[in-house]
Amino acid sequence: MLDTQFEQGRRFFETWQAWRADPQRPRLLHYVALNQTPPTAPDLASAAGNDPALMLLAHELAGQWLGLLPGFHRFLLNQGQVVLTLCVGDTLNLLRQQQFEADVVTLTLDSADAGSLWTIKALARCCRRGTRLTVRAQNGQGLLDVGRHLSQCGFDLKMPEAATASPEPATLEASFNPRWALKNTRQTAIESAIPVGTCAVIGAGLAGASVAAALARRGWQVTVLDQADAPAAGASGLPVGLVVPHVSADDCALSRLSRSGVRLMLQQARSLLVAGQDWAPTGVLERDIDGEHLATQDIWHPQGAWLKPGQLVRAWLGHPGVSFMGNAKVAQLRQRGGTWELLDAQQQVLCRAERVLLANACGAATLLQRLLQDEPQRAPDFARLPAMHGLRGLLSWAPHDDTSPAIFPPHPVNGSGSMVPRIPIEGATAWFMGSSYQPESQPERPDQDNHLNNWQHLQPLLPELAAELRQKFESGELKHWKNTRCVTTDRLPAVGPLEASDAPGLWICAGLGSRGLSFSVLCAELLAARWGAEPWPVEASLARALNALRH
Ligand SMILES: Cc1cc2nc3c(=O)[nH]c(=O)nc-3n(C[C@H](O)[C@H](O)[C@H](O)COP(=O)(O)OP(=O)(O)OC[C@H]3O[C@@H](n4cnc5c(N)ncnc54)[C@H](O)[C@@H]3O)c2cc1C
Repeated sequence: MLDTQFEQGRRFFETWQAWRADPQRPRLLHYVALNQTPPTAPDLASAAGNDPALMLLAHELAGQWLGLLPGFHRFLLNQGQVVLTLCVGDTLNLLRQQQFEADVVTLTLDSADAGSLWTIKALARCCRRGTRLTVRAQNGQGLLDVGRHLSQCGFDLKMPEAATASPEPATLEASFNPRWALKNTRQTAIESAIPVGTCAVIGAGLAGASVAAALARRGWQVTVLDQADAPAAGASGLPVGLVVPHVSADDCALSRLSRSGVRLMLQQARSLLVAGQDWAPTGVLERDIDGEHLATQDIWHPQGAWLKPGQLVRAWLGHPGVSFMGNAKVAQLRQRGGTWELLDAQQQVLCRAERVLLANACGAATLLQRLLQDEPQRAPDFARLPAMHGLRGLLSWAPHDDTSPAIFPPHPVNGSGSMVPRIPIEGATAWFMGSSYQPESQPERPDQDNHLNNWQHLQPLLPELAAELRQKFESGELKHWKNTRCVTTDRLPAVGPLEASDAPGLWICAGLGSRGLSFSVLCAELLAARWGAEPWPVEASLARALNALRH
């Protein structure tokens, strides 16, 4: 459903409630609502009025009602089955950034622009043949003009009897049924939905597990294969990581995408994890140590959180419709008719599926190289992928001993490196300081050098704490966790099809870099939206920055 005026949310709550009450409801309800400025959380409550059922829904939404800057904001409600995309800003611009065809549209004429020919043209782009439209106007003002524009843009009007008499009706009904054939350009811009089926995901880390859960929620049967015997064996085995948006003075694509991603990740944490044990929304202090990125020196992220990624990966893999296959290293991909086969090094078929997703970080490049040997015609497509490389990282950590907790900050501090204190682990609490960076192409540095490197980053971040901990870092007694991040040249993940075809079977979600916790859910939502021709979680222009074949 597309609603050009969210107002205070009443229509959304009524639609959500009607969906809940319908025994034949579809699996997902997508509601895309536009608004010049977002209402406040108390506005949402008052929109629900005294209706107890609507009040409950308003309460669920109000819990996530934060940081609504201009742009798209996605809310996963009702266990992820009700998806609200709130788009804040100018109606015409927001309509042009949509990438789906609605079943039902509500157009509210609250200004001259709302009924302009340009707006109706942009609206028609979001309709398929048969889309129903209701136009609402205060006192019926502007309905006649908009009726003319609608006819011109391919809508059949269903004027009530009274429409020609005065006063004009307050609503007008129409359906999209142009007399002309819809152009191909529009079909390529908006991908068509494919029927749900079977999918194999290679890699059981944040990338693979989040996509698996997003697809399973839509009815897909997903097998997630990993070379290790248990999930989260790669970078996603990180004992604790920070969920915090990237900040830049010019609010670049990375910053805007990471903000959307953080919102989605925190929603997943709230619904799937135990607060205080698996994650905590402590807030995070961001210090701009080198003064390069921020206008001010320190920024407080009230929604910043620490999170244990492995817990989330396991929760996602537990979703009905997802099965995990361990000790399954994929060595080769092969297409047989419409089916993909995943083979091990002995040429045994591990799994067959209609679609394959490479979510195995830098391991994806090896599989693609192998596929090129059998199918060299894929070279021009693969050449459009951003280059990916491995960046090693080591996290230094130790339990808080009896004397030390008081000298630690009460919340994580992030800058060049991050200090994350007071994390419950192994029956005690511990602090974590990370993480070093070293290209995988270089010989691996000794662990102790990495500990010292982490200490050097702690110094400008928290000088007094660094002085206290100096001896611990130098002693060689600290514990560590290390792994490799998969980084693209432009530091943005690569998400999308790996072949330029009408029905691509081979997809990728990799290159999450140092921000898997900020990006994994956003990437999964985007990929699932593309498979189902659903509304996208972010503006189309922003989503394009993540396209796998972007060069
Ligand atoms: C030291 C360090 C600190 C970090 N700190 C943070 C942080 O604070 N915040 C944050 O957001 N991010 C952080 N990250 C980054 C984050 O961990 C990653 O972005 C994220 O885990 C990547 O997830 P992934 O699923 O893409 O890759 P991975 O978790 O590496 O998963 C890839 C999986 O593919 C499997 N695999 C590979 N090849 C094959 C094959 N051929 N067949 C079958 N399986 C295969 C591997 O076994 C692995 O399980 C950190 C990373 C490191 C190393």
